[in-house]
Amino acid sequence: MARYIFITGGVVSSLGKGLASAALGALLQARGYSVRLRKLDPYLNVDPGTMSPFEHGEVFVTDDGAETDLDLGHYERFTGVPARKTDSVSSGRIYSNVLEKERRGDYLGKTIQVVPHVTNEIKEFLAIGEDEVDFMLCEIGGTVGDIEGLPFFEAIRQFAHDKPRGQCIFMHLTLLPYLAASGELKTKPTQHSVKELQSIGIAPDILVCRSEHPIPEKEREKIALFCNVRKQFVVAAYDLKSIYEAPLAYHDQGLDQAVLDAFGISPAPAPKLDMWHDVYDRIHNPEGHVKIAIVGKYTQLEDAYKSIAEALTHGGMANRVKVKIEWVDAELFDSKDAAPFLQGFHAILVPGGFGERGTEGKIKAAQFAREKQIPYLGICLGMQMAVIEAARNVAGMDKAGSEEFDHEAGGKRFEPVVYHLKEWVQGNHMVARKTDDDKGGTMRLGAYDATLVEGSKVAQIYGGTTIEERHRHRYEVDTKYRDVLEKVGLQFSGMSPDGKLPEIVEWKDHPWFIGVQFHPELKSKPFAPHPLFADFVRAAVETSRLV
Ligand code: GLN
Repeated sequence: MARYIFITGGVVSSLGKGLASAALGALLQARGYSVRLRKLDPYLNVDPGTMSPFEHGEVFVTDDGAETDLDLGHYERFTGVPARKTDSVSSGRIYSNVLEKERRGDYLGKTIQVVPHVTNEIKEFLAIGEDEVDFMLCEIGGTVGDIEGLPFFEAIRQFAHDKPRGQCIFMHLTLLPYLAASGELKTKPTQHSVKELQSIGIAPDILVCRSEHPIPEKEREKIALFCNVRKQFVVAAYDLKSIYEAPLAYHDQGLDQAVLDAFGISPAPAPKLDMWHDVYDRIHNPEGHVKIAIVGKYTQLEDAYKSIAEALTHGGMANRVKVKIEWVDAELFDSKDAAPFLQGFHAILVPGGFGERGTEGKIKAAQFAREKQIPYLGICLGMQMAVIEAARNVAGMDKAGSEEFDHEAGGKRFEPVVYHLKEWVQGNHMVARKTDDDKGGTMRLGAYDATLVEGSKVAQIYGGTTIEERHRHRYEVDTKYRDVLEKVGLQFSGMSPDGKLPEIVEWKDHPWFIGVQFHPELKSKPFAPHPLFADFVRAAVETSRLV
């Protein structure tokens, strides 16, 4: 049965709990253990699918089609373990399950209460797959003391209590603020936040203290004493240049050793950290750089394209270059010449997105890349825009557009080269979209296979003709236009296995122009850069040599 590590946070938000959890997962793997990471989010949205990327950052999609928090992306990038639907839950989902059961009469007329009904639902969630791994790491979103978080804290307390002693530990992340005037690190906020945890029955075993300055021995002793934690279990977390240093940094600070000690695992298996040393080396010793533009809509919040930025970094690591990303707001040149905004980049990436705003700019970015022979990677909406660009400017279909925008405007302005997908094959059955569907959960989501055309650029990049990638979209390029577009040189080089849904397009007479209907960025890892991103950055390096 899995040992459980519950990860909570205090003092302030954004301390890097997700990263600490992911790094710890990687370190336990390095010691030969199997791990699974989970996120429990206190917000009331049922899932992040309908949350604005401006609010919440990107929506991370799992193979089994769940729309989850972006922390699951970190977990996957650090551990390589594909996340599942059952690795992410919110208060909204828990309450909705409880209420559904109540309506069905499952509770046999009982009064439904937070304790035990909501907490039981959370505990059931925690227990899923407990026999499958050595360690289950469960991160509680938010900060201790948040009203919404209370049922989760109560549930993990009960869960640990129900298990045999030594089966669960609690790790708490806090901040040690530095007061420049007195030149001191202050421990009081940490003490308060631990008190808050203790008041709800949780005594943390390990404290991870974020600090901008080295933690003096004296302060460490003080924290240990006042927070009732062993001194060697007070672990420092200093600021890092790159998130991928985290496993090595936490190892140096003794986090994995502390965790194994807390469980009483002795002797602890020695860690194998070669892979992380290699990652470190590639990040810290680049042999050059490339400049890549991400032409998008949510450019004010970089977390909105988190996985893309990370995948580009991985692509850079594969080529031993640093990728300098610049965020370009597509709306700036919706009705202007794009050239002044896009000149000087070694490659252009147009990411996924929803809604019409900024799409004319994205179409121009695709045109600019095609005409100037600059490497272009279009992801999901970015592929759709590249197809519309080809239809309009090369195949002479002036009115080419996407039904998505006509839906919004309630009219018929465009010839729907990209249409609203109503049914598709998943595995061996048909999925049909109901027209009266809610906004949430109506997309073609999760992993689907695609078949690549032999001899195409993508087949060469992937090194094969069958791939599996993750999707999240409602609209689709219409195969009706395939012949017209292929005649002008836009090859449909990847299709769904039934040949109905275009998955990849590429310009034949262009050094590197690829549009994909899926999200390759979700599967890229620092130790296994995604082939499309690795080759895209390679192409950018080549462009940089030409200028
Ligand atoms: N809005 C487009 C669609 O639904 C693209 C989605 C995306 O880029 N993820 O098909």
